[in-house]
Amino acid sequence: MRSLTRRKAIAGRGYEVAYQAFGPLACNAYTLICDVTNEAAIVDPSSYDSSEFAILKDHLEGKEVKHILLTHGHADHVSGMADAAKQWPNAKIHLHPLEEENYRMAREHGKNFGMEFPKPPPPTDEIVDGGILKIGENIKLKCLHTPGHAPGHVVFADAAGQQTDNGDIILGGDLLFRGSVGRTDFFNSSMEDLLASLRRLYEELHDESIVLSGHTTPTYLNKEREENPFVAHALNSPEEWYQEAKKRHGWK
Ligand SMILES: [Zn+2]
Ligand SMILES: [Zn+2]
Repeated sequence: MRSLTRRKAIAGRGYEVAYQAFGPLACNAYTLICDVTNEAAIVDPSSYDSSEFAILKDHLEGKEVKHILLTHGHADHVSGMADAAKQWPNAKIHLHPLEEENYRMAREHGKNFGMEFPKPPPPTDEIVDGGILKIGENIKLKCLHTPGHAPGHVVFADAAGQQTDNGDIILGGDLLFRGSVGRTDFFNSSMEDLLASLRRLYEELHDESIVLSGHTTPTYLNKEREENPFVAHALNSPEEWYQEAKKRHGWK
């Protein structure tokens, strides 16, 4: 897997971040490993077959995988769930409750993309908006509900940017990509919600933040502010529109 730890935004935080694109849709799986305790988390175990899973497993050799975090329940993000849960049976599986339908239907959904994989095991922990997940000594992730691409889509943010002067780290799933955003043509997607979720990222997180997306290579919030037409639209929309969305979703 490719380590991102030497990137300026990530260096010096006391944990390693690595990623690898897997499966027919080139979906990124991320690993986070605490430097002090060797405790680890996987975000979106997207490995598609045993040889891809072996890459993930080798990278985590000797580490204690305590958490599997799911940005959402689409097939490409959960195709390695069965292997991961078998390998690390004590790891907690975190999913937002509004994503349970997508998660349950992931194998059906995958068939539309020619994907076949074993049934993902049920989640063990509900993701709560605004909740903090602690992994080892050094990793603290804030969960933010960011619907649109999927109703229970979340991002996980290391929101320590104010202290490090390096921006936040956002594990962003399929919300925001370099120059683009996640699809909203699924039956339970909403472009309206996706735009509000984009606005939320900019309202709540540091402008220098690095975005580790579910597909393609990392980008930065400030770069997308300049170059991404969806971000421009979300940021130029009226304040009342955003306040209305906040209320609708119960965001604090
Ligand atoms: Zn998706
Ligand atoms: Zn995806």
